[in-house]
Amino acid sequence: MSLSQFSLNEQLNNLKQQNLYRSRRIIDSPQNTEIIIDGKKNLNFCSNDYLGLANHPQVIAAFKQAVDKYGVGSGSAHLICGHSTAHHALEEELAAFTQRDRALLFSTGYMANLGVISALVGKGDSVLEDRLNHASLLDGGLLSGTTFKRYLHGDDENLALKLKTCTGKTLIVSDGVFSMDGDLAPLPQLIEIADKNQAGLMIDDAHGFGVLGNKGGGVCEYYQVNQNAMPILVGTFGKSFGTAGAFVAGSEELIETLIQKARTFIYTTALPAAIAQATRASLELVIKENWRREKLTALIKQFRNGAKQLNLNLMDSTTPIQPLLIGDSQQVVRLSQNLFQQGFLVSAIRPPTVPQGKARLRVTFSANHQTKDVDLLLSALEKATFKSKGVYDVP
Ligand code: PMP
Repeated sequence: MSLSQFSLNEQLNNLKQQNLYRSRRIIDSPQNTEIIIDGKKNLNFCSNDYLGLANHPQVIAAFKQAVDKYGVGSGSAHLICGHSTAHHALEEELAAFTQRDRALLFSTGYMANLGVISALVGKGDSVLEDRLNHASLLDGGLLSGTTFKRYLHGDDENLALKLKTCTGKTLIVSDGVFSMDGDLAPLPQLIEIADKNQAGLMIDDAHGFGVLGNKGGGVCEYYQVNQNAMPILVGTFGKSFGTAGAFVAGSEELIETLIQKARTFIYTTALPAAIAQATRASLELVIKENWRREKLTALIKQFRNGAKQLNLNLMDSTTPIQPLLIGDSQQVVRLSQNLFQQGFLVSAIRPPTVPQGKARLRVTFSANHQTKDVDLLLSALEKATFKSKGVYDVP
């Protein structure tokens, strides 16, 4: 059967011409600050392993022991026979960690976001999202069958305005820390607006957990907001926790509703129990080892000071996501390639992941980076870029 009616080659060529074509690098080492590609070591500044736990000996040991106990596959969905003592213990520990009644595991953050939104709202209802929300939240809104609207990034006045036109039950949805920008949602203002308008509020704190707050409790710990103020909290394990999967935390009635109604929870195979057990080990490290957050803060400060001296176009972020705004997709690809030739992995982020004209280098830090790594990155950036009249180019 021919695929000619889909014009795939034409579409692929179009992407290439617009510098929007994506391809994968094949990694031949564990995730860490140094990763091996084609036999060559590279300093890694594009991972979300912010606390450096993806390859931590305690997390690895917990995983191995659990594989001996539970085997590899979980065998089925949670509601059939896939929900093990390891999954259950992790849910209880996450509820305590987030200071919420209960937590529920999902196999990925993408699925958690799709599942939660569709379980709570549908036809005749409204979803309002920050326009820079992660794709999984935007897709969740689009697929929910509600009237779906976006408000201007971080703009509570624009949100309040758009709320006036909403019908039915209304859910406001935002990233906690914005994944491509590194800035924080204005949570206190969102809570106030949600309260005033009797709207629901859902925060996806994939990039805040582990990084913000003294215990790594994310934006909710940072702003000191509890379950009453912020009732629907999503977290993922693929970032600071260094493993894989996701969870939703909230009230007893929210979690029971999700168990009954969230299709991406009901109709998918549970995470391997060994992943749950490894995540329990990483949760312990997330809470206990505050030095990882302190080290990140120092590395971020060092980078921002150095980048300012080089006149790089730093975006306004205090988190380990430190984007350098470039603008043009071709320029950002060339810069990323130049850095790669120098032995540095920094990802070029282009539309549609970010708005048109807002292409950027997304620099991320891990607690495993050393001061000298930041110095090396800064001199590589200096070599890769020179700034003239606000335009970057590669020498
Ligand atoms: N939410 C946000 C804010 C994310 O950045 C991501 C992943 N990049 C996800 C959800 C999806 O999580 P997962 O990778 O577990 O599907």
